[in-house]
Amino acid sequence: MERTLVLVKPDAVQRGLVGEILSRLERTGLKLVAMKMLRMDRGMAERHYAVHRDQPFFEGLVQFIISGPLIAAIYEGPNAVEVMRSVMGVTDPTRADPGTIRADLAQDTRHNLVHGSDSVENAEMEISLFFNPEEVVG
Ligand code: UDP
Ligand code: MG
Repeated sequence: MERTLVLVKPDAVQRGLVGEILSRLERTGLKLVAMKMLRMDRGMAERHYAVHRDQPFFEGLVQFIISGPLIAAIYEGPNAVEVMRSVMGVTDPTRADPGTIRADLAQDTRHNLVHGSDSVENAEMEISLFFNPEEVVG
């Protein structure tokens, strides 16, 4: 059974979109097996986004993701990684398909409301950054 890490990012919390977004995530039919609210610190952000370390947007991304509290969750089910990314839409909301979270609600390429793991391998690493095994309760 596949698992994926989801973040409902600080822009979503700040704009009051948590309920709307979780409702859309829930409609995938994937099983919610862990959830918490937290504020990431710089070290955690740099680990989570380590693959983007050399990108010009890295510092701005880190500043954004630590700017306020977010929701972290784990969803489980067949093709969980791909299913979650498809309801989120691509990174740039102006290029995302209508009906996706980012197309419908996101402001721009940075403030795009949600994160979903992009592979099973990365999902496992990201899950271990956010959750202890005993916090996975589903
Ligand atoms: N991002 C950004 N500027 C860019 C590209 C990405 O600020 O030009 C941010 C955005 O919040 C994105 C995150 O960095 O969600 C990670 O980028 P990635 O390419 O992994 O996009 P994702 O997998 O989230 O669609
Ligand atoms: Mg990514």
